[in-house]
Amino acid sequence: MASEKAAKIGFVSLGCPKALVDSERILTQLRAEGYQLVPTYQDADLVVVNTCGFIDSAVDESLEAIGEALAENGRVIVTGCLGAKEEVIRERFPQVLKVTGPHAYEEVVGAVHAHLPPRHDPFTSLLPPQGVKLTPRHYAYIKISEGCNHRCTFCIIPSLRGDLVSRPVGEVLEEAERLVNAGVKELLVISQDTSAYGVDLKYRTGFWRGRPLRTRMTELCRALGELGAWVRLHYVYPYPHVDEVIPLMAEGKLLPYLDVPLQHASPRVLKAMRRPASTEATLARIQAWREICPELVIRSTFIVGFPGETEAEFEELLAFLEEARLDRVGAFKYSPVEGAVANTLAEQVPEEVKEERLERFMTLQARISAEKLAAKIGTVQQVLIDEVGEEGIIARTKGDAPEIDGLVYLPPAPGVTAGMLREARIVDADEHDLWGEFVER
Ligand code: SF4
Repeated sequence: MASEKAAKIGFVSLGCPKALVDSERILTQLRAEGYQLVPTYQDADLVVVNTCGFIDSAVDESLEAIGEALAENGRVIVTGCLGAKEEVIRERFPQVLKVTGPHAYEEVVGAVHAHLPPRHDPFTSLLPPQGVKLTPRHYAYIKISEGCNHRCTFCIIPSLRGDLVSRPVGEVLEEAERLVNAGVKELLVISQDTSAYGVDLKYRTGFWRGRPLRTRMTELCRALGELGAWVRLHYVYPYPHVDEVIPLMAEGKLLPYLDVPLQHASPRVLKAMRRPASTEATLARIQAWREICPELVIRSTFIVGFPGETEAEFEELLAFLEEARLDRVGAFKYSPVEGAVANTLAEQVPEEVKEERLERFMTLQARISAEKLAAKIGTVQQVLIDEVGEEGIIARTKGDAPEIDGLVYLPPAPGVTAGMLREARIVDADEHDLWGEFVER
């Protein structure tokens, strides 16, 4: 219950799931200190804008959001990835109260204190045990590290967020446990590079439930698997030790789902991107993973039209797609991000060529995805219910991450509520989604 007199904060959260986790942390802290969150600019005493600076369109969106918050409210604190470039923001909006960079929780909260001191209210310490969540209650993102030790030439994240800093394993597991105890059914593990977890700490031994545990992806995954929730791994850089988590998926400890951004398949382009460059090894590993865990769903992302990409190299990528038969694929046209090394590597691919390549790529993948989803017709899948409406129910299988993958559409059913796990027989599919009917367990 918030007091009538509570200091009121408006919050605008832009960007990727990682930025969302930052927002949740800041909001949890502010709520704990007695601030009230309000949904409109007019009701707020001050507005915090958590920005994204990953690609140029995200920069524009962030600047627009800052401009809007200033026009509608006037008292604005900026944080997040774009905050790392304070001069860009100050040049356009000198009147912002404070600019802080990414994952600067204490600084943001400190700036809020300075410009809008908290008002004492004994009721406001009654914070829900799972903190304030911007995602629906039954799934939650859990960030295990910040920053990245790679230097992919198309990416400026390391220059914005710095090198890898892993959270202590005990802290991550305590947070995960709190979330599960508060009703969360699905944990989405995120970071810039999940498989590098613990490298910076030299895999130091931490403690959880009184037992020693190394700060390392496999050990973390095994422990998360004990919590009884769905555990989904995102942003897994294709290191060889990723092989270690596949048996955990086959045993049902982790969801049989791997989000591995591969970015390209031509060895020359991969090298220019400074990514691991052995496509043949990748294919062999995918095959080996599927032998261990036949249910495995692989999601990946690719960049088409990287500077210097030739038609033959693009065709190598198409041949890889055809052979790898990945389940879920996202593709982006290369977009020159200010400050990225890749911009200077070679001639830019003309926009119309990028467009045409993206189209061919997506047409091929749509066919593969449709074939893979059609193969699920007739199977019975465990589904997690996301939304219940009068017209029907929306759920997801183990192979579908929220917000980025497909959905399962189901008819209305009495007693079914969001967050429940149910069994459904798949009766139809297109290239993205599934349709099903409930079956009794
Ligand atoms: S691994 Fe990801 S975050 Fe790290 S540099 Fe490469 S693209 Fe950027």
